[in-house]
Amino acid sequence: MSDNCSGNCAACSSNCTERKTENLFEPTGKYNNIKHTIAVVSGKGGVGKSAVTSMLAVSLCKKGYKVGILDADITGPSIPKAFGITSKAMQNELGILPAETKGGIKIISVNMMLEDGDQPVVWRGPVIAGLVKQFWTDVVWGELDYLLIDCPPGTGDVPLTVFQSIKLDGAIMVTSPQDLVSLIVKKALNMANLMNINVIGIIENMSYVICPDCGKKFSVFGENSASYDEFGVNLIGKLPIDPSLATMIDSGSVEHFDSELLNDAIKEIEKL
Ligand code: ADP
Repeated sequence: MSDNCSGNCAACSSNCTERKTENLFEPTGKYNNIKHTIAVVSGKGGVGKSAVTSMLAVSLCKKGYKVGILDADITGPSIPKAFGITSKAMQNELGILPAETKGGIKIISVNMMLEDGDQPVVWRGPVIAGLVKQFWTDVVWGELDYLLIDCPPGTGDVPLTVFQSIKLDGAIMVTSPQDLVSLIVKKALNMANLMNINVIGIIENMSYVICPDCGKKFSVFGENSASYDEFGVNLIGKLPIDPSLATMIDSGSVEHFDSELLNDAIKEIEKL
């Protein structure tokens, strides 16, 4: 594969190995230079995937990287809320312009296109998948070190579209301990394997609680970490159930997140 590969075989004459395994990757817009693209996925909803995506973006941004978040969770978009973004998406002759947070993280989400953020998105799968593709092709991301894609939970249409049409450097899987005991994580991992996606690692959210009185750590759902070995994927982070995290995220101030809890995950991302 050439160093200059845009993933668009139709626009290139090189006869490289990539061309031989014909792909459906769409090139991103011509004004974009995105160095690394990472999908954040989960087996099911409510495990804190969007929260973790936001915290990873904030941690990367604090290290000086240029970061964007593509909110592909079209029917349950929560990224703008976590960053307190209420502005609408604008467009100019170059394309759709993402919103920018106080810290400089670029964000695009369907919620920035709805007249009223409370409106539900009741669209058919192909329309939703088309919009996700547009967020990749038509948004003016400019220069980014990392674009994080907050995928909807599960193994449906949209994660499939993201995996097939966006050239990813890898995926991070967010789980919660009770999620692990089911087959759900395995299904999501198998989907990634099936599609040749490099799984960077698992981040276990809501992993434990720290007692506010005695400081003791309780693993409310039991100690599950050992079981990750059987999936052949590294555990790269553990986050506690923490009411202050929930308040920060739900009140739009996730940019105040400043913790070492995601350091290992960031190190894995920096290896890409
Ligand atoms: P998902 O994207 O997996 O559906 P969200 O990221 O939207 O889940 O999180 C669901 C809810 O749980 C949100 O209100 C969020 O603030 C809260 N939450 C997520 N992670 C934590 C945590 N570690 N501690 C406390 N609350 C959390």
